[in-house]
Amino acid sequence: MTKRIQSIRGMHDVLPPDSDVLRSTEREMQNILRQYGYHEIRMPLLEQTELFKRSLGEVTDIVEKEMYTFEDRNGDSLTLRPEGTASCVRAGIQHGFLYGQPQRLWYCGPFFRHERPQKGRYRQFHQLGVETFGYLGPDIDAELIILSAHMWESIHLPMKPRLEINSLGSSEARKQYRDILISYLQKFEDKLDKEAKSRLHSNPLRILDSKNPDMQEIIQNAPSLLNHLDEESADHFSQLQKLLTAAKIEFTINPRLVRGLDYYSKTVFEWVAEGLGAQATICAGGRYDGLIEQLGGKPCPAAGFAIGLERLLSLLEESQYLDPSVDVYMVLMGEKAEIAGMQLANQMRKAPHSLSVVTNCGGGSIKSQMKRADKSHARLAFILGEDEVDNQTVTVKYLREKRDQEVIPQHDLAALFAVILDK
Ligand code: ATP
Ligand code: MG
Repeated sequence: MTKRIQSIRGMHDVLPPDSDVLRSTEREMQNILRQYGYHEIRMPLLEQTELFKRSLGEVTDIVEKEMYTFEDRNGDSLTLRPEGTASCVRAGIQHGFLYGQPQRLWYCGPFFRHERPQKGRYRQFHQLGVETFGYLGPDIDAELIILSAHMWESIHLPMKPRLEINSLGSSEARKQYRDILISYLQKFEDKLDKEAKSRLHSNPLRILDSKNPDMQEIIQNAPSLLNHLDEESADHFSQLQKLLTAAKIEFTINPRLVRGLDYYSKTVFEWVAEGLGAQATICAGGRYDGLIEQLGGKPCPAAGFAIGLERLLSLLEESQYLDPSVDVYMVLMGEKAEIAGMQLANQMRKAPHSLSVVTNCGGGSIKSQMKRADKSHARLAFILGEDEVDNQTVTVKYLREKRDQEVIPQHDLAALFAVILDK
């Protein structure tokens, strides 16, 4: 037998009904974005490798271990995008839309990281990302958080995720704190794991983010960056807290929240969901005021976040996607019924009610067609058999209610819509 080809490890097909939930969840969240005045940007999946090296930082998990990088036929080094912020900033500088008027943007699609696949961690995953440019104050940080909280409500997450916030301060404040942190960590150098040791001088803040249980005590007792903030960042952070409190958004301050990428400054935040185990962060973001200059643009303040859609979806209850999205299943017995049925189905679909009408294809006995009607989750079956074709009628059967069937003339669309819309 020929060997079957499987999908790549960590890269998954999304099948119905999961794909239905994914689409309706995306739609809900995109509608919220529209309400807040955000516009979509679509970016290529491939970028020059240099973009991610320069934006994310050389000493980060993504750049050190996780990128899908290869040479194309011209010998250029390309990388499948591991995240969206860098591409969005690249596009902003390239098209000059960062300057003049502020921007509120979003994108949604696949991202790629060569990680060890496990629950909540895949090699191709999906993010809905939001980026804002040109807003300096904490009001936009608050808006991003309020907007994400609004999304959790609108998609009916069964439990409220927990919000953690922190401030990373200005790059100068971080530099000074870095030295303080290094001299603290050096006291425990023999207790640090291999990764932490290698980052002690190149990226010591990342050590605070380590999940290694053996290092938690050292991390818990480390001096807090919050005690070393510059005045402007401290004001910004306290203003943000006021805005969140006024909006009745609960939060905890986590001084060890540093995020995995080098480009963050001032506000960072994460939404964490209980019940997801180790991969519990469903949404993460913050400010990155320095990134645009770092990538060769004129300075421009910026802030954003990204939601991991797979982790979000694993929180949604199954019942949510069993909602019948099909209004009518057309049971068609014989060639004449198939012709008449197709026409009637099209008339119903083109009417302003935006109905979903599934026609039976491939024939079959009345029994097998009724079985398919039931499986489709439709509320109604419209049956066209020999009698109905001769008499130009439709027999309406209620599939989900105890109710007598009805016979309605095919041309009486008003009566048919009344049945479908239950009026
Ligand atoms: P983690 O600490 O879980 O590795 P991260 O800091 O690498 O997350 P970000 O780069 O901030 O994650 O991405 C934002 C969100 O995208 C994460 O909070 C998570 O929900 C999701 N995400 C990141 N990597 C993956 C992955 N490999 N598989 C599935 N979802 C992911
Ligand atoms: Mg990661």
